Amino acid sequence: MTAMSVLVALVTAGGALLLITAAVVFGGGYLLTCRIWPFRACGRCKGLGRLHAPNGKAWRDCPRCKGTGRRLRIGRRLWNHAERTKRNAI
Ligand SMILES: [Zn+2]
Repeated sequence: MTAMSVLVALVTAGGALLLITAAVVFGGGYLLTCRIWPFRACGRCKGLGRLHAPNGKAWRDCPRCKGTGRRLRIGRRLWNHAERTKRNAI
């Protein structure tokens, strides 16, 4: 093994470690976000809970969020699913 290949191996290992660390940090941060703020604004109505007709005067409840203007985060949905599965397993 030459010095160059050792260096390449070290850099690759360091890069992988950095990648794993970044994934853990971002994943943990996202989980924490899902724990504290389980909802996000509905993308369809931008959190208003209603959709306006093209003339801007008539409106109806947003069908995607059912007029609440909020949507459960994907991470929180998975979390709830996991909790439900765990609860039903016992
Ligand atoms: Zn909506």
